[in-house]
Amino acid sequence: MNIHHYDYDLIIIGGGPVGMALALALRGSGTSVLLLEARGMPAKTEDSRPLALSHGSRLILQRLGVWDALPEVTPILTIHISSRGGFGRTVLTADDAGVPALGYVVSHHDVFRSMHEALQNCNVDYLEGAQVTRLETPAGLGEVEFQHGGITKKVTARLLAVADGGRLTGQIEGVTQHVHDYQQWAVVARVKTERFGSLPPAAVAKPFTAALSRSAKRTSQTTKVNGNGPARTQPSIAYERFTPDGPVALLPSGDRFALVWTVSPAAAQEILALDDTAFLARLHGHFGDRLGKFIETGKRAGFPLALKYAAPVTACRVVLIGNAAQTLHPVAGQGFNLGLRDAWELAEEIIASPADIGAPVMLARYGDKRQTDSSVGRIFTDSLIKLFSNDDLVLGVLRNSGLSALDCLPQAKRFVARRMMFGARG
Ligand SMILES: Cc1cc2nc3c(=O)[nH]c(=O)nc-3n(C[C@H](O)[C@H](O)[C@H](O)COP(=O)(O)OP(=O)(O)OC[C@H]3O[C@@H](n4cnc5c(N)ncnc54)[C@H](O)[C@@H]3O)c2cc1C
Repeated sequence: MNIHHYDYDLIIIGGGPVGMALALALRGSGTSVLLLEARGMPAKTEDSRPLALSHGSRLILQRLGVWDALPEVTPILTIHISSRGGFGRTVLTADDAGVPALGYVVSHHDVFRSMHEALQNCNVDYLEGAQVTRLETPAGLGEVEFQHGGITKKVTARLLAVADGGRLTGQIEGVTQHVHDYQQWAVVARVKTERFGSLPPAAVAKPFTAALSRSAKRTSQTTKVNGNGPARTQPSIAYERFTPDGPVALLPSGDRFALVWTVSPAAAQEILALDDTAFLARLHGHFGDRLGKFIETGKRAGFPLALKYAAPVTACRVVLIGNAAQTLHPVAGQGFNLGLRDAWELAEEIIASPADIGAPVMLARYGDKRQTDSSVGRIFTDSLIKLFSNDDLVLGVLRNSGLSALDCLPQAKRFVARRMMFGARG
């Protein structure tokens, strides 16, 4: 017999993309849900970061009814990985992995907006401007205190899903947050290049037009390429270039590239302060001439980078998901993909046994299920940074020979390509 009175089955703390995904996954399930978000819909200029999504994430977003509302989706058919100052390079193609696309590039803002809109017309209680200040679990219930409209309120639930990016972790008894500061920042911007670049014909997965029509069969959204002047054909190649200061990634995004440039904190401040012309010249000097000159840029933004993870990811009546469970370096584009799987698999647990919501048995099942995926994503990403972002001569020889060897080993390439796309279950 349940002697407790509670307000909701589930309170989600944090309405970023992962918290919203969990709320959307539980629509119509009969679970009563309150979603508390401190801010609300951010302005587009606040966050220009791209998200590289795996095929698995696309399937989840389709089921959440979010994918078809995304205004621009650019498939990645080829990933070109190289190391500055070395000869090593490898090319991963969709063919290597045996899939139609290695991933898809979307904007973080577009994902946020589509989810935000989907939440307006459903039975989830969604409170924006609600800042959680305290969470506790007295007498086997989750209790949350939050500020809303200048008033302090309290609310209880059988389970608290903490999706706040890790800000409240210090308040959760029994959970430790591990932090490693990479001493790096990511500078992001949408940039236009003279060329899209090209690869030897054998290395290119499929002509873009073929990919476009294949992918158009499954979704109405694909890249819209409409640059000024003569039509440019988007070959859907992503470039990942490792340098001693950190990796620089250029992801195909419509008629541009989405840049994620990792630099030291001091260099980030310098780069963010440059005018556009000086910024484009500095980027060209750093990345090299593979794509010609960099000719246009959108607004730049900077993000400090650290590895943060919670252990364990569950406590009494509490579960941590998304960046609250693991915040990763963006080098391998795993963070949101992992967070989306956290949300999806938690929703599956809740729907499968509603009587157990928040019970130790449910939390243990969820923790076990997520363990491998989360730690493999974290270790894979962290190892890439350690292997590639330093000046060590021995590591330099190893990474160059490693990249060249990888290029000659189809099985190994397939392994890396699938890992980058699907995580541990790749
Ligand atoms: C430069 C960069 C590039 C990236 N590229 C990729 C990529 O290509 N692919 C990929 O998969 N991932 C990528 N990521 C990672 C991805 O952005 C994150 O994993 C994802 O945004 C995490 O979402 P989240 O909802 O867990 O957390 P967050 O986005 O941090 O959201 C947390 C939410 O909680 C709210 N909140 C915080 N505190 C409180 C409180 N006390 N009360 C109420 N609400 C609160 C915040 O307002 C916010 O809305 C990248 C990250 C960066 C920085």
